Amino acid sequence: MTKVQHSAQDFASNQTVRWCPGCGDYAVLKSLQKVLAQTGIPREQIVVVSGIGCAGRMPYYLSTYGIHGLHGRAVAIATGLKRTRPELSVWVVTGDGDSLSIGANHLLHGLRRNIDINILCLNNRVYGLTKGQYSPTSVPGQVTPTSPAGVQDQPVDPIRFALTAGASFVARGLDVDAPRLESLLLAAQQHRGAAFIEIWQNCPVFNDGAFEAVRDKQSREQHLRWLADSDFDPTQASIIPAMAMAESVSPEQPIPFGLFRQVTMATAEIKLKTPPTLRDILTMGSTWHV
Ligand code: SF4
Ligand code: MG
Repeated sequence: MTKVQHSAQDFASNQTVRWCPGCGDYAVLKSLQKVLAQTGIPREQIVVVSGIGCAGRMPYYLSTYGIHGLHGRAVAIATGLKRTRPELSVWVVTGDGDSLSIGANHLLHGLRRNIDINILCLNNRVYGLTKGQYSPTSVPGQVTPTSPAGVQDQPVDPIRFALTAGASFVARGLDVDAPRLESLLLAAQQHRGAAFIEIWQNCPVFNDGAFEAVRDKQSREQHLRWLADSDFDPTQASIIPAMAMAESVSPEQPIPFGLFRQVTMATAEIKLKTPPTLRDILTMGSTWHV
């Protein structure tokens, strides 16, 4: 592919951005525009696929191809697209509700198949678009309209979900920590296989302050542990050290961010030179007339 020179501005679309003022999605959009420009991939070779939710609006704001799909189905759509058009750079932008509730099965299988796509899961621990119900990542005790006495369920940890699904690239970033987030986005693009990045994203309307300790610039370095600066090795074959690292999130310890896992694994791709037509498939094996 011939690389092209783009600026971040070239990736801004002509659409009015309709997120609430102060939403963490703005910061993610900005970082994504910057990184897409850095990759040198022509805009017409990039497709951003989303499901439903506030994060699902991302494709409108990028001057690439985009698909605003059905709730939870972004990974399924991206899987079909990448398998039939492997030359494209395919990105999924999803949220915690979209990808870890209704879409959890697609996420699981997209990761284990190691489809060569980049999945950004904007985790604000709440359903924002539908006005603040608790989501699969909401924390115990979180009061919302659907959990008036506080959430009682154990939350899904997106990092451990991705690790147990067998993902070959698993990372955590933070909406407002642009330099580190951008380094992860770039690494995801360069990784061959499914790259999963959980992005902690503040929803100032329905779950404000969920990530305050690390979002606040004054206290960030005290509460955040950037894995690349530690002796943690994300390239280990076993997922156990990465699982233990993901589990170490607690108020007493710095929260791990960065790359939990990056290993080389075969990616699912169509290897036949001449794939069968739909008619071939429908008539293969035993068929009969009634
Ligand atoms: Fe952002 Fe929350 Fe508003 Fe959605 S509801 S746009 S996540 S601030
Ligand atoms: Mg959400």
